[in-house]
Amino acid sequence: MEREQVKCLIIGSGPAGYTAAIYAGRANLSPVLYEGIQPGGQLTTTTDVENFPGYPSGISGTQMMEDFRQQALRFGTDIRYGIATASDLSQSPYKITIDGEKEIETESLIIATGATAKYLGLPDEEKYAGMGVSACATCDGFFYRKKVVAVVGGGDTACEEAIYLAGLASKVYLIVRKPYLRASKIMQERVHHHENIEVLYEHNAEGLFGENGVEGVKLVKRLGESDEEHYEVAIDGFFLAIGHKPNSDIFAKYLETDEVGYLKTIDGTPVTRVPGVYVAGDVGDPNYRQAITAAASGCKAAIEAERYLAERAYQESIG
Ligand code: NDP
Repeated sequence: MEREQVKCLIIGSGPAGYTAAIYAGRANLSPVLYEGIQPGGQLTTTTDVENFPGYPSGISGTQMMEDFRQQALRFGTDIRYGIATASDLSQSPYKITIDGEKEIETESLIIATGATAKYLGLPDEEKYAGMGVSACATCDGFFYRKKVVAVVGGGDTACEEAIYLAGLASKVYLIVRKPYLRASKIMQERVHHHENIEVLYEHNAEGLFGENGVEGVKLVKRLGESDEEHYEVAIDGFFLAIGHKPNSDIFAKYLETDEVGYLKTIDGTPVTRVPGVYVAGDVGDPNYRQAITAAASGCKAAIEAERYLAERAYQESIG
C-alpha cells in the first residue's frame, strides 16, 4: 500500500475542517485535508446561509464553502479528494487509510467528518431536495415565513425545530409516528402550548406532491391495530428531524463515543484521550450543529494541534 507521512491531517471539508486548515496552514503545519464523501459538507445541501456573521446579505451554502476552501488553499493547505476508510490510532504516528488504497501517517489528526441528517428514504425527498425539503430549520426556516410547514420526528430536535418554525410560519404540523413524543417533558409542554403547532400522532409521511416544489404531504394515520387512513395536507415546507448520524464509525474503536456515536472530547475543548487527535464540528456536537460553532471548534482543534506539535518538537530537541 502506498504510504505518506504528514504533520497534520484534517479529515472533512465542512466549516470545521476548512477552518482548522486555515489555522493550521497559517501556523506552518503544512496541513493535508481530505474532503470526504460530500465535499463542502452539509451546507452544500442547504439553500442560503443567513446566520453566518460576515455575510450581511446571506450567501449560498455552496458558495460559502467555496470561500472557506479558497481561504484554506491560500495558506497552503493540500486539499485532496478522498474518503478516510480506516484508522489506526493505537500509537503515533496515527495511520489513516484513504479510499482503502493509501495510508497516511500523521503526527496530528483533526477529525471533522461531520454528521449526516437522517432521511425517511422516500423518493420524493430527493425529488424536492432544495425545493421544500430540508433537514435544518435554523438554516431554512426563514424562507417559510407566514407559510405552512411540516416537521417529522418526535424527539427533542423535532420539538425544537417545530417551536423555532412556529415563530416564523403560520402553521406547523408535527408528524409523529408513535402515540407520544419522545422529547423531554419541557419540550413537549412547549409544543402542546404553542397555538401554531398541531401534533399529528400515529402519522407517517408517505410522499410529497407539488408542481414546482412541495405543495403538500401524503399522510397515513394509524387507526387501531389493522386499519389506517390516507389523506393529504397542503404544506410549503417539509422538515426532517428524525436524528443525525455522526460519521465516526472508523474512529469508534479508539475514541470515546456517546450512545449515538458522537465523539466525546474533554468538555469545551476539541481534545480527545489520544494525544494529538482532535475532534471538530458536528461529529462531536449533538447539541448546536451550526456552521459557526463548527468553524470555532475547527479553530480550536488547529491551535491544539499546533501546541501539541511544538511541545513534541521541543521535547525531542532536548532529548
Ligand atoms: P432522537 O433519536 O431523540 O429522536 C428521533 C425522533 O425521530 C424520534 O421521535 C423517532 O421516533 C423519530 N424517527 C426516527 N426515525 C423515524 C422514521 N423513519 N419515521 C418517523 N419518525 C422517525 O433524535 P433527536 O435528534 O431529536 O435528538 C438526539 C439527541 O440530542 C437526544 O438525546 C436529544 O435529547 C438531544 N437533543 C437535545 C436538545 C436539547 O436539550 N435542547 C435539542 C436537540 C437534541 P420514535 O420515538 O418512534 O423512535
